[in-house]
Amino acid sequence: MKNKKNIAIIGAGASGLIASIFAKKNGHNVTIFEKNNKIGKKILATGNGRCNITNSNLKLENFHSKNIEFVKQILDTFTLDDTLEFFKSIGLLTIQGEKSNRLYPMSLQSSSVVDLLEAKIKELGIQIKLSSHITKLEYDDIFTLTINNQLEYDYDNVIVATGLLAQPKLGACEDGLTFARKFKHNIIPTSPTLVQLISDSKYLQQLSGVKFIGSAKLIINQQKITQSTGDILFTKYGLSGSTILEISRNVDIELKNKSSIEVHIDLLPQFTEDKIKDILNSGIKLNGILNQKLIPYILELAKNNFSQIPNIIKNLKFNITDTKGYDFCEVTAGGVDLNSIDSNSMQSNKQRGLYFCGEVLDVDGDCGGFNLQWAWSSGYLAGNSI
Ligand SMILES: Cc1cc2nc3c(=O)[nH]c(=O)nc-3n(C[C@H](O)[C@H](O)[C@H](O)COP(=O)(O)OP(=O)(O)OC[C@H]3O[C@@H](n4cnc5c(N)ncnc54)[C@H](O)[C@@H]3O)c2cc1C
Repeated sequence: MKNKKNIAIIGAGASGLIASIFAKKNGHNVTIFEKNNKIGKKILATGNGRCNITNSNLKLENFHSKNIEFVKQILDTFTLDDTLEFFKSIGLLTIQGEKSNRLYPMSLQSSSVVDLLEAKIKELGIQIKLSSHITKLEYDDIFTLTINNQLEYDYDNVIVATGLLAQPKLGACEDGLTFARKFKHNIIPTSPTLVQLISDSKYLQQLSGVKFIGSAKLIINQQKITQSTGDILFTKYGLSGSTILEISRNVDIELKNKSSIEVHIDLLPQFTEDKIKDILNSGIKLNGILNQKLIPYILELAKNNFSQIPNIIKNLKFNITDTKGYDFCEVTAGGVDLNSIDSNSMQSNKQRGLYFCGEVLDVDGDCGGFNLQWAWSSGYLAGNSI
């Protein structure tokens, strides 16, 4: 093939793996470098091992970035249908999860996603170099990659698909930002999102382990910012469960801005305050409707004034002092500024031949398959553009 290029992809996560397949289909020599000893380690951990691969109701409001128009363009280029078609082409069907619109592999196993991507990669003859940490990226007419601080290889094109800071135990690190800074890219400040929240409430020791379906409101400087309903878990350190993760965006940034942050929890969102009053007046007991562990706490807050109880059940307040940070969060907000990336190709406007895709860029999505969709769409475009 004329113009056959040697392409290096840094990172064998969701975006790097799909990028490799489309770059190879264009006829290039493609090598993926991964510092872990296996590919797709984070994909395996997604969706509690089931991989919430995408969402059947992709809306722009579920994505966050300083340049949301850019995000729209990429999602319009490689759409939900394209994504499902791609997975079908490698042998994988999806199924709707019990939470509406979330799509999973029909096997309900994230390993199916990794195994079938790997099978396609092997079939196409893409090289995968495991335990290969790219420690330096330089350009002088050609890109030179330093691997494990020793070996050096030259490449015509490089795709940075390193992900960002969420969960170092799965391979997350700052390297993508280091490479971007080297080529003069602006970085939007990062923060952990989809993350558990730490509270200084003295009651948490006794509430720890209580799990329920409740509603949680995020209140910043006395203003309600967002609300979600579903699983909530009280832990010794604070609040966890998918509902808390869903409202956690902005908490880290706002704490750094010295904002006051509270989470208000409704233990029985299915009932109004008046309805709870009626239920209790009808002879139903507190331990007939609530977890036993909650009752001493509610009585203490009510100061034995029983008329206060319905209001307390609807309005438990927790002061938030921190998040569980990058070690525990699912996604990193912020990253490489999209203003220096070409939205037609994912190529850097600062350095020809250099491409970025996935979470390393300033895009994060809500819970529900949006983050992987961003990885599939941006990875496709980076790989296919070369
Ligand atoms: C526990 C958990 C559950 C999640 N669940 C979901 C879900 O169900 N649905 C959803 O949509 N999203 C989910 N996410 C988010 C989603 O997994 C990520 O947004 C997505 O995987 C990002 O893909 P990526 O390719 O950008 O980066 P990653 O998947 O993070 O891959 C980057 C890879 O690059 C490698 N790497 C980094 N630097 C170097 C280097 N210098 N040299 C060599 N290799 C390097 C890393 O080891 C890593 O393997 C979850 C995240 C977590 C942590």
